[in-house]
Amino acid sequence: MRMIELTQEDLKRCFSDNIFHQISETADKLGLECYVVGGYVRDLFLQRPSKDIDIVVVGSGIQMAEALAAQLGKEAHVSVFASFGTAQVKYRQTEVEFVGARKESYQHDSRKPIVEDGTLEDDQNRRDFTINALAVCLNKGRYGELADPFNGLEDLRQGNIRTPLDPDITFSDDPLRMMRCIRFATQLNFYIEEETFASIRHNKDRIQIISRERVADELNKILLSPVPSKGFVELDRSELLPLIFPELAALQGVEIMNGRAHKDNFYHTLEVVDNISKHTDNLWLRWAALLHDIGKPRVKRWESRIGWTFHNHNIIGERMIPDIFRRMKLPMNEKMKYVQKLVTLHMRPIIIADDVVTDSAIRRLLFEAGDDIDDLMLLCEADITSKNQIRKQRFLDNFKLVRQKLKDLEEKDRIRNFQPPVTGEEIMETFHLRPCREIGILKSAIKDAILDGVIPNEHEAAYVFMMDKAKEMGLKR
Ligand code: ATP
Repeated sequence: MRMIELTQEDLKRCFSDNIFHQISETADKLGLECYVVGGYVRDLFLQRPSKDIDIVVVGSGIQMAEALAAQLGKEAHVSVFASFGTAQVKYRQTEVEFVGARKESYQHDSRKPIVEDGTLEDDQNRRDFTINALAVCLNKGRYGELADPFNGLEDLRQGNIRTPLDPDITFSDDPLRMMRCIRFATQLNFYIEEETFASIRHNKDRIQIISRERVADELNKILLSPVPSKGFVELDRSELLPLIFPELAALQGVEIMNGRAHKDNFYHTLEVVDNISKHTDNLWLRWAALLHDIGKPRVKRWESRIGWTFHNHNIIGERMIPDIFRRMKLPMNEKMKYVQKLVTLHMRPIIIADDVVTDSAIRRLLFEAGDDIDDLMLLCEADITSKNQIRKQRFLDNFKLVRQKLKDLEEKDRIRNFQPPVTGEEIMETFHLRPCREIGILKSAIKDAILDGVIPNEHEAAYVFMMDKAKEMGLKR
């Protein structure tokens, strides 16, 4: 991510919106120093779209927010969070957060700091990284003036992430910052300065005091970055990975038996995640890529005749997912089920592509994947990381065939959202049955006949097939 240079004049123009001038006027009336701070300023220099506007006031942020809302009139809504000493003003489409400049000191066993009023510099000191500590003054006499005591601008220019204070203090005070550090490095493609990085490693165990939701939030942001692998490599290098995601760390390593090695499933997984990220912003599809081989370490075996095997790793992976999601406080709803489904099915298209591509295999795949078939195909293509170009090309060619057949058959058979052409109720009525296992047997015989292409997916043909099958079973009308 490249930075642009902005002079004070440019910055004045960046803050030319009415809302900033209103803030400026209010602050001057109250006689308070007032700055835009943090991510908003950083993102101006990086030309990234920024969301929240954070304002720091040397004095009371709450008093400032209330005065601003009064000045803006009926359209402004203020919410005060007295226990945090912050307030938010919503005005038309804009949200502005106000906080009084603070000085913070931490105790070892908690993330809750002791907070006192402070100067702008005290406030910048408590920020996590130099690039997040930039502040631009909004008071009339100094409008657009940049306050950058830690040379954050130079770090933006160089693409460096560094803490304003001794990193051991910054990270130990609030260990979430270790995750934020790696997340920003991934989102911005920045380099984590050496001392800062060494300190993450040194303080890694303190991550345990951070709530799982917040860790997962950062993991999601890493996964949604342009090249997510960078974040996971940094998590690994810093030794945070086994603490926050042991199952992923367990994918690492290569074992050799009789001169035969299996691939390193951690790096393979990261390649798959990067591959899929070129094609989708769907967080849960990216999660499916991250977890597609998660079952491998548990089923890895050496079989003298075959070599390294990972039988059923997809099923084992699917079963591991609820535990992972529960622990990470990720949603245990249809999103998790979607990830599970893709993990279970992730080898199916490739197995089909590796063989003669039969209609019946394609129909079964469509039937099981339903509406998620396109996502499954993306995952499967992303999973081809073979370095052998000939082998890779063969798979990709066969995939084209699978995709074409999927299209043809779908039109012909409407399998994607399969509805049985003969319902259980019709079976019960025809043979005067109460609910019993024969109904299930007939239904699945009809389904199999359709998927295997024995009969078309139509009521008439299914009905005739059912009558024949029922006769075999000794059922009478
Ligand atoms: P993003 O919106 O992408 O998360 P951001 O930098 O705006 O990026 P916020 O979490 O909104 O991140 O935080 C706003 C600012 O508050 C940051 O730029 C930083 O100055 C400060 N900040 C946030 N969290 C911390 C923290 N844990 N420790 C120190 N400073 C923090």
